[in-house]
Amino acid sequence: MTKQTNTSPIIRDIKQIERYTVQNATQDMQFRTFVLRDLPLSNTLLDERVREETQSVWRQIDCLSCGRCCRKLQVVVDDADIARLARHVMSSPRQFQAKYVRVASDGTKHLASIPCPFLQPDNRCSVYDLRPKSCRDFPYLNEANFRSRMLFLLDYLSLCPIVFNVWDRLKRQFSVRRPIKGSTQKRPPKP
Ligand code: SF4
Ligand code: SF4
Repeated sequence: MTKQTNTSPIIRDIKQIERYTVQNATQDMQFRTFVLRDLPLSNTLLDERVREETQSVWRQIDCLSCGRCCRKLQVVVDDADIARLARHVMSSPRQFQAKYVRVASDGTKHLASIPCPFLQPDNRCSVYDLRPKSCRDFPYLNEANFRSRMLFLLDYLSLCPIVFNVWDRLKRQFSVRRPIKGSTQKRPPKP
């Protein structure tokens, strides 16, 4: 499969993104099925394309003018995050956990309040260098095996302009392709 340069314009307007996400719901699920079953690209190559698109889109979107993930999502934390942030606010992990953390019924720990208590009014993170791993990894587009994580990522389409635009570019890049009859590509396991 030849590589194409993607020059489609970036969509930043959140109302437009939310509208398109609703309008495109069926198309998005069809595209997911196509990528799962018929896109003639290995998982490794697909992950590379996703990372390239992510880098390109991220350069053109200013997270400081958005901040939606910090304002709207529950931030998962682990014990290492808690220990690091506790040192920062000069408390013990136990005290930090009592003040800032809730534990879900499945044992997952997350910051108790939404928006995140460390978000500043100008959308900067007051603990940026110490932020939880889940914040560093969000929106999870650089992680391996995009193919098996598409359903999870689609949940963030209307929330995160980076996810929306990367997905939109992938659709543009691959949707003109037709499934290759008799392709020997190994299908990934169902997520
Ligand atoms: S929601 Fe996406 S674009 Fe907005 S601040 Fe978070 S990562 Fe950046
Ligand atoms: S810790 Fe920082 S990056 Fe993470 S949600 Fe809070 S403000 Fe955002």
